[in-house]
Amino acid sequence: MITSEESIRGDIVEVGRRLYARAYVASNDGNISVRLDDRRIMTTPKSVSKGYMTPDMMVVVDYDGKKLAGDRDPSSELPMHLEVYRNRPDVRAVCHAHPPMATGFAVAGIPLTRAVLAEVITTLGSIPIAAYGTPSTAELPAAVRKYIKAHDGMLLANHGAVTCGPSVMAAYYKMETIEHFAKISLVARLLGGENLISREEVERLQGLRGMYGIAAPAPLCTDPNEIPADTQVACQVLEAPESAARLVPDVQLALQQASRDGEIRLTYGELTALIADAVKNLRE
Ligand SMILES: [Zn+2]
Repeated sequence: MITSEESIRGDIVEVGRRLYARAYVASNDGNISVRLDDRRIMTTPKSVSKGYMTPDMMVVVDYDGKKLAGDRDPSSELPMHLEVYRNRPDVRAVCHAHPPMATGFAVAGIPLTRAVLAEVITTLGSIPIAAYGTPSTAELPAAVRKYIKAHDGMLLANHGAVTCGPSVMAAYYKMETIEHFAKISLVARLLGGENLISREEVERLQGLRGMYGIAAPAPLCTDPNEIPADTQVACQVLEAPESAARLVPDVQLALQQASRDGEIRLTYGELTALIADAVKNLRE
């Protein structure tokens, strides 16, 4: 399908409005780009609120980031976008924002890698955190590089999130999914922790992707520690316990891990839940 340049400008303006309206960006934050062809990329201008852009504001650059057309200058985060396009020939658009819930997880150093929501498992899979890099330096593209082959969305440590997809709307919707997932994860953790979806059920859900026409981001892998820091990951780490039950309480997962590592790590909430459970069992 060939999309005209004019309609791409319109889509970028619309996505900018949504990012701003949903408070995924403040002030002049965030940037959006679209691959026009094998020579040109269209991107949002720097120092402009993404909520108030007009189609004529867009900048056209080449794959080295050199400006080809437009009155304004591209965002200083453009190298991060270029890194995504270089590594993912299938990607047509990239979206970067600072949605507050997801960015909160990124600041706390907590990745969104637990198998808890069916729609997240079928679309994004897991959402890792790319290491911190000084914005607008080569550090940020390098950090993104590690995960981009296996992930369509990731958190950026102490910064925000970046997503990509086959169109600018698709990349934006992944940003929505990440923020929605972060919100739900936070609420579940405040309420005592998530029940996790079992590995068998995760495989069943991923098997359904074909039915919805969703391309699989990457196969699952089990141990994140096996991946050296400077290597590009080729698979996704998803916390999904082996279990006969389809939903596994967080506490049980902590115990499973403990039996493997020989070490028990529990939060205060998990410990209280365990004691309450034990006392209840004694009474029965
Ligand atoms: Zn940013």
